[in-house]
Amino acid sequence: MAYAGHQFGNWVPRLGDGRAIQIGEALDAQGMTYGIQLKGSGPTPFSRNGDGRAAVGPVLREYVLSEAMFALGIPTTRALAMVTTGEPVYRERAEPGAILTRVASGFVRVGTFQYFAAQERTDSVRELADHVIERRYPDLSGEPDTATARYRALLSRVIAIQAELIAKWMDVGFIHGVMNTDNMSIMGETIDYGPCAFLDEYDPGKVFSSIDRHGRYAYQQQPGIGLWNLTRFAETLIPLFHDEEEAAIEFAKSELDGYAGLFHAAYGDGLRQKMGFGRWDQADQEIASAFLGAMAEGKADFTLAFRRLSELSTGDAREDDSAEKALRSLFADSAALDAFLPLWRARLREDGLEDGPRRAAMRAVNPLFIPRNRRVQEAIDALVEREDSGPLNALLAVTALPFEENEEHAAYANRPGPDEIVRQTFCGT
Ligand code: AMP
Ligand code: MG
Repeated sequence: MAYAGHQFGNWVPRLGDGRAIQIGEALDAQGMTYGIQLKGSGPTPFSRNGDGRAAVGPVLREYVLSEAMFALGIPTTRALAMVTTGEPVYRERAEPGAILTRVASGFVRVGTFQYFAAQERTDSVRELADHVIERRYPDLSGEPDTATARYRALLSRVIAIQAELIAKWMDVGFIHGVMNTDNMSIMGETIDYGPCAFLDEYDPGKVFSSIDRHGRYAYQQQPGIGLWNLTRFAETLIPLFHDEEEAAIEFAKSELDGYAGLFHAAYGDGLRQKMGFGRWDQADQEIASAFLGAMAEGKADFTLAFRRLSELSTGDAREDDSAEKALRSLFADSAALDAFLPLWRARLREDGLEDGPRRAAMRAVNPLFIPRNRRVQEAIDALVEREDSGPLNALLAVTALPFEENEEHAAYANRPGPDEIVRQTFCGT
């Protein structure tokens, strides 16, 4: 598949699948189409200077993280299979080669639209838009085809699903790492897992990727980058919106202006549930911000802080409260937490929910198990160094049930110890 893209903001007119190849499509019982790709299977017409192959590390990372995202309820491409090829691939050193079989609603990217638009092939952009509508958004095809309405509806839809997707990433502390326009799917799924990772301690400016030197794709940058990419998408559709360019641009601008509101509504709703609140207004937003601020100050683990907050009771604090102790132990400095907790408890008492159901509701949105960076690394090392897939299978079993307490898996919930922190991740392309 051909596509172009902005890589770290720089325009590249021809990228394309250099190490992936689509082997076909499958229909499910509801008539929904899925594309199936092999990633790492060898050179393609778009391989440029690359070998078209993949090392076991990046393949395993994509397998584990995409399946974990699915279990967390986040739209994503999925991993159907992973095999090692028995052949070495040469990166910084020789590494075992592997192939990932992945499945998606489709593999059309913002960059796919850019590829044709940049060549001023408006008919091809239209054909591509029609294909996406037919496959993924059939409810838009009924738009009166005085020809332009369906394309306007497509832009609105893609803006909305991306706003929701990125809000979900933010809610679980996921950092994609390489949000280039060729890595943003028009299908609203998380795609192209490279040097991605989950936050350990909460740090809004966190970057894991070794190649993201200026933090373009840092955790808190993601909503803004989403809009930047959507703006590139909107530009490709301008000729389809309206006969008059000025009116077309006006339309695109007004839709893009709606993105911030859509993002904040989705993100706010996620945060509301994470905090255990029944409703959400400005004051609630401030309470949530106080918790996030306390986490940042106290260098608390993002995932565990929300999970342990879930276990607290809303009654007045007691000296011997073990749930509160467990939460406090995550904070290197808990002064800000002291200020936050009474506000949060008072707020929950207003909702009037019993502790039991409120705890259950919070546990259902605040995961206990995420694919911890060091566990991913352990699984890679075991496979590469000992051909041992035990740690991989164990990790997959754990992350398949992210919200359920499980004594046997308890060690997988731990935040990394001081010498276990993974500070950087690599593309490994
Ligand atoms: P990605 O890191 O998946 O976003 O890839 C960026 C671009 O580089 C895409 O066009 C890929 O197909 C291409 N690419 C990445 N790795 C390889 C490789 N080993 N061989 C050929 N092309 C590659
Ligand atoms: Mg890519």
